[in-house]
Amino acid sequence: MCAGRSWSCARSSHSIRICRDRHDVIDMIIDGKALAADVEAETARRVKKLAQKGILPGLATVLVGENPASQMYIRLKHSACARVGIRSENVVLPDSSTEVDLIAKIQELNRRPDINGILLQLPLPKGLSPQKAMMSILPEKDVDGFHPVNMGALLLGAERLVPCTPRGIIFALERLGKKLEGAEAVIVGHSNVVGKPLAAMLLNRNATVQVCHVFTRDLAEHTKDAEILIVAAGVPALIKKEMVRPGAIVFDVGINRVGDKTVGDVDFDNVKDIASAITPVPGGVGPLTVAMLLSQTVNATESQAW
Ligand code: NAD
Repeated sequence: MCAGRSWSCARSSHSIRICRDRHDVIDMIIDGKALAADVEAETARRVKKLAQKGILPGLATVLVGENPASQMYIRLKHSACARVGIRSENVVLPDSSTEVDLIAKIQELNRRPDINGILLQLPLPKGLSPQKAMMSILPEKDVDGFHPVNMGALLLGAERLVPCTPRGIIFALERLGKKLEGAEAVIVGHSNVVGKPLAAMLLNRNATVQVCHVFTRDLAEHTKDAEILIVAAGVPALIKKEMVRPGAIVFDVGINRVGDKTVGDVDFDNVKDIASAITPVPGGVGPLTVAMLLSQTVNATESQAW
């Protein structure tokens, strides 16, 4: 990325690799794994504090069917729970489950005092409505932040449990020391999981936000404005160097399989030369998302306990 010598960041000596080139432009590859490790360490400390009061946070994941990618994400989440001392269990329902079966299982988890957080792994098999299932999770146990009560609170500027990927991105921006007030932020992708909640979180911090999507007429026209560019479209190499403002901070949320490689939505090899900071795929936003799930499970446990 840059031939200059490495600097360490005052805020986090191991999370962010900083180089300076001869024009004194700061270039960074944002190390999502290291940032996630910091969040995990803090979460583990909070879990220990709760243990002193006899409280053990519990997370239940609910998986319907046998989607291999979902099974892999579930395994990652459970091993992350084990690392920080959160008790976790995976509820697996057959592909043939009805909406009634799924909601009955979620309601059973809602009633259990040893379960503080419930995560419904998406996507669901055809015929099952994610919205209905999400709405059956108690808002105080909704560690993914998708329940309308939590989404509504987010829109009103009273963030409670919020979606984990946007929360991870805000966390990384704060660690970079980026001033969000007045910053020009552009989001590519307007999903309920990433784009919409992230737009609300940035607005809550007084950034100026543009949200683009598949019907945006001239994507580059918008992305070139971005001091902070977040891309969550699921389209490999959608964002090319000429679409990026020099010095932008770029978050690549996309996860795409191309041949035997996992790539993001940003043409990393070229964009890294123009961005001041950029997340790689893999090893960027993904690990942060999992770390935020752990942190939110502890948030949920604490607010249920006090
Ligand atoms: P989605 O798949 O629900 O929606 C895609 C969004 O991108 C839509 O708003 C669509 O309009 C927009 N889009 C699609 N093609 C476009 C184009 N050519 N130009 C402009 N906009 C376009 O979105 P999602 O669930 O947020 O997922 C997006 C990507 O992020 C996927 O690759 C997904 O796997 C990944 N993802 C990663 C994480 C993580 O933790 N790293 C978390 C969530 C999603």
